[in-house]
Amino acid sequence: MSKIIIVGAGAIGNAAAYYLAKTGVQVTVLEKSPYIGNGGSSRNGGGVRQSGRHPAELPLVMYGVKNIWPSLSDELGMDIEYYREGNLRLGKTEQHLEILRGLVKNAQAGGLDMRMVDSAEARELCPYLSGEVIGASWCPTDGHANPLLVTLAYYSAARRLGVTFVSGAQVTALRKLRGRVTAVVTADGTVYEADGVIVAAGYDSRKLLGSVGLDVPMNPVVLETLVTEESPPLFYQMLGTAMADFYGHQSTHGSFVFGGTHGLEPYADGSRTVGSSISASSTCRGIIGFFPVLKELKILRTWAGVIDDCADHIPVIGNPAETPGLTVGCGFSGHGFGLSPVAGLLLSQLALGQETALPLDKFRCDRFKAKV
Ligand SMILES: Cc1cc2nc3c(=O)[nH]c(=O)nc-3n(C[C@H](O)[C@H](O)[C@H](O)COP(=O)(O)OP(=O)(O)OC[C@H]3O[C@@H](n4cnc5c(N)ncnc54)[C@H](O)[C@@H]3O)c2cc1C
Repeated sequence: MSKIIIVGAGAIGNAAAYYLAKTGVQVTVLEKSPYIGNGGSSRNGGGVRQSGRHPAELPLVMYGVKNIWPSLSDELGMDIEYYREGNLRLGKTEQHLEILRGLVKNAQAGGLDMRMVDSAEARELCPYLSGEVIGASWCPTDGHANPLLVTLAYYSAARRLGVTFVSGAQVTALRKLRGRVTAVVTADGTVYEADGVIVAAGYDSRKLLGSVGLDVPMNPVVLETLVTEESPPLFYQMLGTAMADFYGHQSTHGSFVFGGTHGLEPYADGSRTVGSSISASSTCRGIIGFFPVLKELKILRTWAGVIDDCADHIPVIGNPAETPGLTVGCGFSGHGFGLSPVAGLLLSQLALGQETALPLDKFRCDRFKAKV
């Protein structure tokens, strides 16, 4: 394989482009937006989390946290503001602690260093917790990074290695030539040809894959995030709750970035939820309940992004058997940022027909086919 097209310039497409270019492959990345990284990759909460992962995803994210994230700033030549300061998932009731114990049990079964801490130890780790917190789960190797910088750093490093990025290029269909997916067509009718194609276009991947007869059952789901004004440094752990109703961290320059699911409203047809005028204030009320110290901080900005929520909430990462030449990376279901370096690496290996760094059987596209 000497030429590969990647559809989608998010963190995952850009990472795949970088790892491919490192092997000397000629790469063209096509991005529908006028901006690089205008999807979930620049809108997410920055969590690089192993705790609370689906057991299938755990080995992937653990590989990334062990082998890629710690040296990524050096490798890409840009400070991506990665902190490996741990993740506290907080509980206020016995029911919360029961949920957290279940997460700890699953994580330990997968070999992750994670345990329960009582309220005193939780406060030693993060002295700013509300008195209502009665316990937490603790994963010392979780962390966070700046998603804008990660996406930009992969893009910049890929460009230095000669990758071509074409923005404003919306791919409308994949094309098979002589039985292999080796071309794509963009909205203006341009045909791009290569030796193989990687689709890493988030939720839009579903429509593109449909053009060659594949279906990945995904739904678009809106998530909201907010950023506060700067505050003096308080703590650098990633924070979450047993009910997963909010999560967040303090960034390098002092702002807190929080995501949450409070105050979302049903879409008109009831099929999904969308942000509403009360989402941010509802999330903030929830956060202040855990961190009263933050109650005077002003919110600077809120934004929303769409996730590609797969039917079984884990991604598709693979080469579908019926479409040689095609590599698929989508369905990251709202947790693809923490996976982005390892997902990019694995997609590059798949596209080159190499043995992958980790087994990918659980992420095959054909897991959704009817069993006969
Ligand atoms: C609000 C929010 C908070 C989140 N928080 C976290 C978190 O804390 N931790 C975590 O791990 N994950 C989080 N996520 C999920 C994470 O952002 C995504 O899983 C990840 O960014 C997926 O990367 P990607 O490159 O696959 O997708 P994207 O970043 O969405 O990139 C896909 C790209 O493809 C382009 N594209 C689409 N269709 C076409 C087409 N037809 N032709 C050409 N280009 C196309 C899009 O414009 C886009 O740039 C969050 C997501 C959101 C929205």
